[in-house]
Amino acid sequence: MIKTKINRHDLEYFLYAMVKAFYKDAVVEAPDTAEHNRLKDDEAEHEDVAVCQINDDVITMSFSKGKWFGIDKEYSYSIEIDKNSTEYKDIVRGYIYDALVDYSGRSLPWGNLTGIRPTKLYMNMFRTLDSDTKGEYTKNQIDQVVNKMALKHRVSDYKGQLAADIAIREKKIIDSFDNKDGYSLYIGIPFCPSTCLYCSFTSYPIVSYKDKVRAYLDALYEELKSAKDIMVGKHLDTIYIGGGTPSSLSAEDMDYLLSKFHDVFGQEQLAEYTFEAGRADSITEDKLIVLKKYGVSRISVNPQTMNDDTLKRIGRHHDTKAVIDAFNMARELGFDNINMDIILGLPGEDLTYVDRTLEAIKELKPDSLTVHSLAIKRASRLKEMMDKYNSEIGVIDFDKAMNMSIEAADSMGLKPYYLYRQKDMGGNLENTGFASDGKYGIYNILMMEEVQSIYAIGAGTVTKRVFEDGHIERCDTHKDVNLYIEDIEAMIERKRGLIVKKERNRSYE
Ligand code: SF4
Repeated sequence: MIKTKINRHDLEYFLYAMVKAFYKDAVVEAPDTAEHNRLKDDEAEHEDVAVCQINDDVITMSFSKGKWFGIDKEYSYSIEIDKNSTEYKDIVRGYIYDALVDYSGRSLPWGNLTGIRPTKLYMNMFRTLDSDTKGEYTKNQIDQVVNKMALKHRVSDYKGQLAADIAIREKKIIDSFDNKDGYSLYIGIPFCPSTCLYCSFTSYPIVSYKDKVRAYLDALYEELKSAKDIMVGKHLDTIYIGGGTPSSLSAEDMDYLLSKFHDVFGQEQLAEYTFEAGRADSITEDKLIVLKKYGVSRISVNPQTMNDDTLKRIGRHHDTKAVIDAFNMARELGFDNINMDIILGLPGEDLTYVDRTLEAIKELKPDSLTVHSLAIKRASRLKEMMDKYNSEIGVIDFDKAMNMSIEAADSMGLKPYYLYRQKDMGGNLENTGFASDGKYGIYNILMMEEVQSIYAIGAGTVTKRVFEDGHIERCDTHKDVNLYIEDIEAMIERKRGLIVKKERNRSYE
């Protein structure tokens, strides 16, 4: 175990996150400033301890040897700016990172950024510069932003260029929407054919809920009608039906849900209508025909890997042939915007596996590809089974695997268009979406960059109200399907409270 200690409460999480990022296999204990003075006792226990002591103009980082830290070492940096200035904390963060780089002999691609939306920072910087009429920036302006982030947050040049590239692309799309009066709708279907090993989402095996599905869809219908009423005067820009695996519903139930949506929102001109068909073991011709009938414009066929042994290991009840068949069937039925998701770092997979997956995907030529780095979440079976699989996890060089994915996407003419990071993510890297021109997942961008409100319905979903000044408030729903159905009226009223009343309150301010 590595203990972390710091004498500044507001930097506790930062120190913890940085040490964890450098020593990802170690158990790292978050700091507790109240215990800072117990340091001497800890040293006596021969544990690894990373201590950061910040005085006004000097910062000291010391490492006490144990299992992970090989030697005792101390770093000292002087800070020459006013401790009340806005840059002071950034400088401290930079020195903590520098000490870890020198001590460990490694650096992190994203430097000392710990947030999940690095591109938001880049976009904010571009907003302070003038673009041309097409929203493009000069090479000098891009270098200026990349260099600033490298200096301030130690972001590597190649990640900085990637983030800048994405930020400019996203900004053009975001600016083409009226985000003040527009919103997106998310519908959660919390059912799947089976539970994947790494799953941490709200998902239940559909076989166990067969007799509850119609009641669930009726609860969604109540939510749809209320959403239309609550969001009156606002324009619905995009809809995303996700889960779970929405296509685990029968074709009849899908028709029922989509017809209800059509009854309520039929007149809206949507910029994007996504249905996450998801798993190949749930996709059939009659279901795809239903999606076509209601004007779904974008679907996902998500293999996660194109290796049969891995599919079996992670609990998917289909093989790679089923993925290929589902994809080709969708193409034949006229779907011209198909996304595929893959995950890097699945148990047992090395770079040969990644290569096989990418080659198979190149054959299919999807319109977009989303590349995830495996995140081991507390709520997943994978976390529970870490002991069993531990030797097979983390064998992959995530950085190399991500670069292979970038090259594969590039060879298919797909450009990076959105990116986010998660806690517990393999290699401390990111999830990146690539797409061809005009096939960018618009909902993904609007949701991830938090520029417009997301009205979310369904068990385990979170509605996000984005106010004009950027302030965000959230309202979640029950994860349990039965509770969700029973308590639907109360949840609708909570959303009304968040959206209608809050807005009214604010207009009185
Ligand atoms: S398909 Fe997605 S939501 Fe369903 S079990 Fe697998 S990881 Fe979970």
